Amino acid sequence: MKVLKIDKKDWAGGIQKAHKAYRLYGPVQVKDKGFSEFQALGPDAMPDMTATDTRLSPKSIAFPPQEVMMVFTTDENSELCNQMQVPQKDYAPRAIIGIRPYDAAAFLLVKKNFDTPEYRDPYWCDAYEACTFIGLAVNTPSALDFSTSTKSGPFDENGLDVLLVDTGNHYLAKILTDKGAAFAKSAAWETEAGAAGEKQIAELKASAEKQIRATVAFDNIQRQSIMSLYEADFWEEVAFACINCGTCTYVCPTCWCFDIQDETHAKCGKRMKTWDSCMYPLFTIHTTGHNPRGTKVQRVRQRFMHKLKYFLDKYEDGIMCVGCGRCIRSCPVNIDIRKVCDIMNSYSAGADTCALKK
Ligand code: SF4
Ligand code: SF4
Repeated sequence: MKVLKIDKKDWAGGIQKAHKAYRLYGPVQVKDKGFSEFQALGPDAMPDMTATDTRLSPKSIAFPPQEVMMVFTTDENSELCNQMQVPQKDYAPRAIIGIRPYDAAAFLLVKKNFDTPEYRDPYWCDAYEACTFIGLAVNTPSALDFSTSTKSGPFDENGLDVLLVDTGNHYLAKILTDKGAAFAKSAAWETEAGAAGEKQIAELKASAEKQIRATVAFDNIQRQSIMSLYEADFWEEVAFACINCGTCTYVCPTCWCFDIQDETHAKCGKRMKTWDSCMYPLFTIHTTGHNPRGTKVQRVRQRFMHKLKYFLDKYEDGIMCVGCGRCIRSCPVNIDIRKVCDIMNSYSAGADTCALKK
């Protein structure tokens, strides 16, 4: 595992070289919008390495908001009539430059759902495997970042192929995998930083972690039964202000729900995979008209129980959250997952749980 030193004067030249071997993605300031987001970079475009927290995570690079799964025709004159065809997909190597460590950790978390011993979603898996993750450490975490208590952190290496660290005039590039080494070669990053580079990374990491003040605990959630939390008396209060807009699920790098629908036009059709949200009333409606989560309280409870209890129990590997803080920043009514986690963690059946009023 070596550390390379990249002079910022040479940064653009290296990225231009990497363009020849990879389709590149990176953060880009969206014109006149005041936020940045991950986009495919054109041949001359550079990732904006000063972008702090992108409004959406880069999860869409492997899990697009809308994706064509299959195409079909009902034209009886066609020999393919009524046969589902998988369209040509492009899984050429792609590199995500400037992904934050918590967003890379989120890919690993989502992988538990899309790539299991029993079932493999080929669309997500093929896109994910085509990716090389060139992370950028977070030297100055935002006030909403609580990633150090969610098995991630501002310099976390899990899920990354390279960790870049901005040191002012240089980037230090910690090469973590063979994929990362291949990217470094394509960008002609060659100068070794040696032990001094490793020491500098360790110092910046300690400084960044110290700046994170927000934490969550879920030890007591783990000990409590599902039914005790499910039937707790605080859900009405937690859900009171929610308008079920679904924003929290769309901005979340770990939310993976989708819907499948056929769209037809004349005799042509497409089977589409589209992001969905457990916060929407139609998410669980049955064809009978019965809706097991027909009320707002039921839907809000589902979101938090899934992230903070069901996932925790199922995988015994932490909560379904990497602590990026996006849902807190974007929620129009200021519902804060850290606060809800605290309410759940300090809950004991029978006690007064008006924690939101405290
Ligand atoms: S963003 Fe806030 S208001 Fe919208 S669904 Fe999520 S919790 Fe409810
Ligand atoms: S639940 Fe909120 S803080 Fe956690 S990963 Fe999703 S958006 Fe980020």
